[in-house]
Amino acid sequence: MPNHIAAQLEEIRSKVQQSALSAGRAPESVKLIAVSKTFPAQDILTAVNAGQISFGENKAQELEQKAAALPESIEWHFIGHVQSNKSAKILQYANWIHSVDSLKLLTRINRQAGESGKHPNILLEINLSGESSKTGATVDEAEKMLQAAAECSYLRVAGLMSMPPLDANEPELRSIFGTLRKLRDQWQKKYQIPLPELSMGMSNDFTTAIAEGSTMVRIGTAIFGKRDYDQS
Ligand SMILES: *Cc1c(COP(=O)(O)O)cnc(C)c1O
Repeated sequence: MPNHIAAQLEEIRSKVQQSALSAGRAPESVKLIAVSKTFPAQDILTAVNAGQISFGENKAQELEQKAAALPESIEWHFIGHVQSNKSAKILQYANWIHSVDSLKLLTRINRQAGESGKHPNILLEINLSGESSKTGATVDEAEKMLQAAAECSYLRVAGLMSMPPLDANEPELRSIFGTLRKLRDQWQKKYQIPLPELSMGMSNDFTTAIAEGSTMVRIGTAIFGKRDYDQS
């Protein structure tokens, strides 16, 4: 029985709020996204019944199956690599896409959003750790995407996202999260585009991310438990 989910959710919620308060920030300034990838719809429902609204998925097919089976009140966040032949399906269900990492993808999503009457919230994923991470745009590429965002009238570019390497230590994490925040501050000013959201922080590093300004933490393991990839 997934009873542990409600308890772990409560614990994480409280830790997120405490981290915000210790950083001198309002507790409600950080949104908790429960990353439910690989876990069954039943587990998501348990979290919904415990008051959780936002969930993160990283595969189009899995998102579709779960969204079709679960309450419409759920706010879905797509956090995985967007394959070009899957972007239309993702758009159908996701309110937020955290992982837009090329100009080509940005313009395709904008066109498809126009065709389907959707208005997705978009975050630009930036790779700040060089070769050690496979996904994410370079800083230059991301700036070009932001310049193009003004013409993408069917979507809202709302901020930036980054994933540090799995083996990053505390100073490296601080540096990566802090760099993302500074880029956001710079670009917001330079292009006069509001970029309120910083999607950064997972189970093992969310307190550091919140100290550096995160507004969206994507937490899976600490809520749902260890993932069994063989079963998915
Ligand atoms: C799986 C995943 C997470 C959650 O990671 P945990 O360590 O389980 O909290 C967060 N962000 C992305 C992009 C992911 O793919």
